[in-house]
Amino acid sequence: MSRDPDGRWFVTFAVDVEAPVAPESTGQVVGVDLGLTDFAVLSTGERIPHPKHMERRERRLKRYQRMMARRQKGSANRAKAKRKVARAYSRVRDARRDFLHQQSTTLVRRFDAIAVEDLAVANMVRNRSLARSISRTGWAEFRTLLTYKAHRDGRTLAVVDRWYPSSKTCSACGHLLATLSLGTRHRRCPGCGTRHDRDVNAAQNIAVAAGLVETKNACGADVRHEGSPSVRSAVNQEPQPARVGIPRV
Ligand SMILES: [Zn+2]
Repeated sequence: MSRDPDGRWFVTFAVDVEAPVAPESTGQVVGVDLGLTDFAVLSTGERIPHPKHMERRERRLKRYQRMMARRQKGSANRAKAKRKVARAYSRVRDARRDFLHQQSTTLVRRFDAIAVEDLAVANMVRNRSLARSISRTGWAEFRTLLTYKAHRDGRTLAVVDRWYPSSKTCSACGHLLATLSLGTRHRRCPGCGTRHDRDVNAAQNIAVAAGLVETKNACGADVRHEGSPSVRSAVNQEPQPARVGIPRV
């Protein structure tokens, strides 16, 4: 503690700030299938549901927005309604942000390498109903958080080309179905007989396509197509995640 000529006291602190330690390698890899029914399905078979109470918060926000629209412009009631909308909006935003932070942190902590599908969110936003779901679930923000945290913690984030038929391909043998209706949640592979949950199979294929998991198809050939994906470490690379090219089938 010291005192300056004006008689003011100054306190000096010396603080040791530890450099953030990158988490230990876990030896685990994961493919992540982002969806609408669940927020995400992992290649481990785990399902991550959407954040709780989200729909209730959103309904409340919409109600306040409608209320505001009915109030006369410039009126005190309108101003009051506007404040309610702002508050309800921050609740939705904060809850979603907390959820995305939690999920991205958990993934980066648990897995050395994480593979996700490139969703080309910008393109999908043209479809209005899908656009609403995407902005609501925050996939783009989730990707940003994953990229940042993987980079920070020395984990690998691989992005698989969006045209990869992750649902139609068997993750066990590589057999590719000609068609698969959106409603089919479970199926048995005609190639090897494995029973698949649609989303878990897709998540497993994403991990395979990113080169994180090796599987062989019936002919003994690598499931990965030519132009084998090069998964680059997020460390010592530009923040841009690795891009994996799978030819359109
Ligand atoms: Zn199969």
